[in-house]
Amino acid sequence: MAVFQRKSVLVLGGSRGIGAAIVRRFAAEGAAVTFTYAGSREAAEQLATETGSAAALTDSSDRDAVIARVRESGPLDVLVVNAGIGIFGDALEQDPDAIDRLFRINVHAPYHAAVEAARQMPEGGRIIVIGSVNGDRMPVAGMASYALSKSALQGLARGLARDFGPRGITVNVVQPGPIDTDANPANGPMNEVLHSFMAIKRHGRPEEVAGMVAWLAGPEASFVTGAMHTIDGAFGA
Ligand code: NDP
Repeated sequence: MAVFQRKSVLVLGGSRGIGAAIVRRFAAEGAAVTFTYAGSREAAEQLATETGSAAALTDSSDRDAVIARVRESGPLDVLVVNAGIGIFGDALEQDPDAIDRLFRINVHAPYHAAVEAARQMPEGGRIIVIGSVNGDRMPVAGMASYALSKSALQGLARGLARDFGPRGITVNVVQPGPIDTDANPANGPMNEVLHSFMAIKRHGRPEEVAGMVAWLAGPEASFVTGAMHTIDGAFGA
């Protein structure tokens, strides 16, 4: 089904993991997809070849580069902001510059990208940000900066939904629980702890998250905005 035929889609942070699954999903449904990457040039080039999408080097910690990339993309039907990092460990020992970089990638870039995209976005456009169930529930120590960054996206969606709602543009957050990626592998050391919080005791698959993103971007979700959409095996329940 070519639901997104002729639609212009930009995925910030699409070279690996959840972002790559989102790129594959939109490309398979006929969209013209551009995605950004920072460190994984080889993976990005492979994905671009595989899917017929375009890969663009843009570091999400660089606000002006993010704004320029969105502007140069022209009118977008769908913006997905997926790029995100975590820094784990003792809050008292963490480098404040590294924490501020996390906030630039996880919070500042989504905000500025969303606002810039809205300048040219046609009526009915979609802005989707990948948050985390940790925006609602943080059951372990050592991840406060990450949890803060993902909670902040909830305010982004609630506020920008008001700003852009009159133009039929929706703004939503997808909040995954543990998903099997390089950042959180299904065979990682935290698995027993993570699964103990869940009703479905496994990691989710990136494709499962991409499916929710595709639904939010599609015609059936035109009345869904300013909302958090949790996909987490009941991690946060
Ligand atoms: P990965 O680490 O597997 O992949 C991260 C992706 O984001 C890569 O494509 C990476 O590109 C890109 N990225 C990271 N930093 C930057 C940057 N500075 N500029 C541009 N791109 C960047 O992560 P996941 O796929 O697991 O996570 C994706 C999103 O989902 C994140 O926002 C994460 O917080 C969220 N999430 C993940 C969960 C999980 O369990 N996996 C659970 C809940 C939320 P490159 O390698 O080229 O730099």
